[in-house]
Order: sequence, then structure tokens, then C-alpha cells
Amino acid sequence: MTTQEMNQAFEQAYGRKAEKIFFAPGRVNLIGEHTDYNGGCVFPCALSFGAWLLLAPNTDKVLRFQSLNMPQRYEIAIDAIRPQPDRAWCNYALGCIDIIARRHPEAKLERGYDLLYFGNVPAGAGLSSSAAMEVVTARAFTEEMVESLDTQLPFGYKDDKQYRTELALIGQACEHEYAGVMCGVMDQFASAQGKKDHAIYLNCDTLEFEHVPVKLEGIKVVITNTHSPHHLDSGAYNDRVRQCKTAVEQISKVKPIKFLAELTPEDWAAVEGAVTDPIAKKRACHVVGEVARTAQAVEALKQGKIELFGELMTASHVSLRDNYEVTGKELDTLAESAWQVEGVLGSRMTGGGFGGCTVSLVRDEAIETFKAFVGKEYEEKTGLKADFYVAEIGDGVTRLH
Ligand code: ADP
Ligand code: MG
Repeated sequence: MTTQEMNQAFEQAYGRKAEKIFFAPGRVNLIGEHTDYNGGCVFPCALSFGAWLLLAPNTDKVLRFQSLNMPQRYEIAIDAIRPQPDRAWCNYALGCIDIIARRHPEAKLERGYDLLYFGNVPAGAGLSSSAAMEVVTARAFTEEMVESLDTQLPFGYKDDKQYRTELALIGQACEHEYAGVMCGVMDQFASAQGKKDHAIYLNCDTLEFEHVPVKLEGIKVVITNTHSPHHLDSGAYNDRVRQCKTAVEQISKVKPIKFLAELTPEDWAAVEGAVTDPIAKKRACHVVGEVARTAQAVEALKQGKIELFGELMTASHVSLRDNYEVTGKELDTLAESAWQVEGVLGSRMTGGGFGGCTVSLVRDEAIETFKAFVGKEYEEKTGLKADFYVAEIGDGVTRLH
């Protein structure tokens, strides 16, 4: 859908023109899975698909929510912003507006708005359609909720980098409070700070990050969607968070740590005996290994060692399958059949797990074979059809006009 078509849809929905359009991307994490809430680094990149938000102020002091992806419409008075029941999709937007107001006492929502969303990230596929929606809303409303924008950046942010980090934090807080998912900051951060043809090496504890060029000559990042109904629900996710916390507590009796990511594989070998809970032990083993693998993978990419990068992606999947136990039949079938294809450098699940997508590095000449072989194996083994997207790495959130 073009922005012109989105403008027409806005006019159809509200009977007048949109005043502004914003865009925020979804993301794919190349490596570093389930490290984010353990103080470790991740390595996501923003995609060229994401969420658009068109808006115009109204005089009715209500927020009207429509989405070209969802049948439900919502109307919420600006003085009655609170979480909506039944997993209403407007929560992902409403929460951001609420959080902006709470984080910035000087923020003011004095007018209502007519809002129209459109997303082309497959929802629930682990490519973070929710973060795209949050970040696009945070971007729009940080601009709308200041009195005037003569000072370039709202709320005294000192530069664009700080502004984008703040947008990610607003989105994350929304996900916690309005969607009930205690996620790390990675998804929103990638959506806010993305840069074309770069991945983001991000420490989720300190929020320090580095844009690392992704130069893949003759190789593509291919995302494969399981279309599986299974997903890592907030229950299973929150279980993993808790199991990691148990590991931290038990390790801290012999070596005080705040996060599992503080441990090198050598440290882990010395302290793993302290973790008496067998599940917590497996989880910690994944996190420590994944943190080290991610660092190694970033170094490999910087040195142009793409084969090594691919091998580390594959090792990441194995650990997510065996230690973190968040893969499941669909993701395993996709990754394991990808590994058999000549010209595949590596393949792993990406996102929270169970369903969602895999990400693979595939040589140009192998892409058609990859799709045919993996698609066929997948359908035979699961009865489901996979979808393939050759990913383009795009920029972070922006106002389009
Ligand atoms: P993911 O972030 O992996 O795509 P989530 O379950 O976290 O999956 O978020 C998906 C939810 O986000 C949808 O069910 C919907 O509530 C909301 N959402 C995402 N994109 C849109 C959109 N374009 N319009 C309306 N709601 C959306
Ligand atoms: Mg999400």
C-alpha cells in the first residue's frame, strides 16, 4: 500500500485529510536471543516494513483509533486514558500516550485526534509489529504533546540519539503496562534507532549501542514465517524471566551478579554448580553462551567473516532449542531443513520463540532452492505453509510528512 492510498483511506475513514504521517519499522534480530532482559547484548536490524500512522487533530477531545489491519474501532476520551480490556489493539497506542504524559509532566494532550494505522509486518510473527506500532505512536505524540516545536526536539532531548532512545523506552513501558508483556527494550530500540544497511549491537542494560554495517555481498537475509498458531505467550515468557532470576539468585551466593550476562563462559564453568534448579541451569547456560556468541558474531561481521557469522547463528538456534526450550516443531523444522541446503550460511529462530520466524543467511544463487526445499519439508512435516521474505535493512522511525 502506498502512502497515497493510506491518505485516501484516512479521508474515507474520517472525511478529511490527514495532517501528518509517521512510519516505524519492525525488526529482525540476527543473533542474541533472550539475552536482552538478562543484561546482555542483542543484534537486531530494522526492516523496510513496519507501521504507518496518519493523524489529524479533532475538536471533540477524543482519540479515535482505526486500523486498516483490524476491524475493531475505538473511541477514548482524552481524560480517560487507561488500559482497555480484551486485548484491545488500541492498547499499544494508548499506553504510549499515557506514558509520555507520565514521563514528561510538561506534556499536554489538549486536543483529541483521529488516528489511522496501517502495518505490513505480519502480526504475531516475531517481527515486532507491536513495537512498530508503539514507536510510531510515541514518535507522533511526543511531537503533538509539546506546546510548540520551535526547539527542534521535544522535552529538551539533547540530540536525536537521545530522543530515539526515549521513544524506545516509552514503547517498552507501554508493552509492560498496557500489553502485560515484560519484554526487554530490543524491539522498540531497533524500531527507533534503526539505520539502513546496519544492525544495532545493543547492550540492553546500559543502552549503549553501535551501528555495525551489514555488508553481505552476494548473500541475503531471508526471513521465513512459520505461520504457526503457537507463540511465546506472556506466561511462557514471564516463566523464562523468572527462571533466569532464580539462576542469578543462586549464583549470587558464590559470586554476586546482577545479570547473567555478566558471566563469561569461563565464569559460568566456575559457578554453574551453585545453580541447583535444573531448569534455571539450562536457561542460564543458554544466556551465557548466547552473550558470548553474539559478541563473536559482531566481531566476525566486522572482519567480513560471514561464514563464521552464519555458524554462530546456527549454534544460537541449537541452544535455544536444547537449553532455552523455546523453539518447537515448526521453528526446528524450518531451521533444520535450512541447514541442509548448500549455500545457507546459517539459520535460526528469531524473536521470542515457539512460532514466529526464522532468519537465515542465504547465498543469492541458493535462494530459490532454499525456498523450494525448506517450503516442501515444512509442509510435509507440519502441514503448514511457510512464507519467505528477502529482508531489506531500513531506517528507524521517521515523520514522512
Ligand atoms: P508481534 O509484535 O510479534 O508482531 P504481538 O503479539 O506482540 O506480535 O503484537 C501483535 C499485536 O499488536 C496485534 O495483535 C495488535 O493488537 C497489535 N498491532 C500490531 N500492528 C497493528 C496494526 N497495524 N494495527 C492495529 N494493531 C496492531
Ligand atoms: Mg510484540
